[in-house]
Amino acid sequence: MAGDSVALTRDERIDQRTRNPKWQNIPVRIEMLECINCDACLRACPPNFGAIFNHGADVVIIPELCSGCDKCLPACPVDCIYPDPDWTSETAPDDWWGLPRTDADPYV
Ligand code: SF4
Ligand code: SF4
Repeated sequence: MAGDSVALTRDERIDQRTRNPKWQNIPVRIEMLECINCDACLRACPPNFGAIFNHGADVVIIPELCSGCDKCLPACPVDCIYPDPDWTSETAPDDWWGLPRTDADPYV
């Protein structure tokens, strides 16, 4: 059963919309009021996670794809990426899931 398997690859995480439960670190989020949409974080996120996307005028992080590796934090010129301890599986709006594996996906 796909629903019972652990989402080890990015493709599986996208299909199942689940985080890898073995990841110890909580995901991070972008404070949109502070973000200047420079895309530096997007380029810093390792492709095997590939969690950051342009979404209209915003830059967003899909928490299920974010391992909490913190590689995007030093890339941000305005320090507006924060840990997201309040993350729940409902955090990412449905339309964010339309971004991976499309022309909008910078990691494929
Ligand atoms: S913490 Fe790591 S996985 Fe999460 S968005 Fe930043 S670079 Fe990507
Ligand atoms: S690096 Fe910071 S300011 Fe630039 S897009 Fe990412 S969150 Fe926004």
